[in-house]
Amino acid sequence: MEQLKLKPCPFCGGRARVIGKRRSGSTCYCISCSSCGAKSRVAFVQPWHDSKFVAQCQAAKLWNARADNDADATKVPALFAFIQQEVPFRLENIFNIPSEKITPNIVDVCVWSLYDNSDVMFDYDSMDDHLRELLKEYDIDPDNYEEKEENGKD
Ligand SMILES: [Zn+2]
Repeated sequence: MEQLKLKPCPFCGGRARVIGKRRSGSTCYCISCSSCGAKSRVAFVQPWHDSKFVAQCQAAKLWNARADNDADATKVPALFAFIQQEVPFRLENIFNIPSEKITPNIVDVCVWSLYDNSDVMFDYDSMDDHLRELLKEYDIDPDNYEEKEENGKD
């Protein structure tokens, strides 16, 4: 089995460890420094993989990316920042999903999933396809909203 490899804390060089939490009824993980308490962002255990190991790896990935970037330790990787900006925009403005349906958890799920699949993602079409798949988990079908936008009647 693959092992979690955690780099030392980017701030103090301390030893990093995985911390499990409950947040809004879901299990999530973050990586924390045992010396200074610095933390990574949290990664949620998601319904479609239901694996805490995957979530722990996601947290480790973000922690390690930050540890790599010690010139500016607080800087989020550019790709991650791009995806974070792109997801809410595409959900609301490309898919026309009403903003009240787009919960922070859905955005978080989409951002992480795109980030994890960023090696195979090469354009906006594949990004949108991926988002459509993810939205199915929440019973959101972008086609419903696109039809409304056209004001179409059968
Ligand atoms: Zn530290």
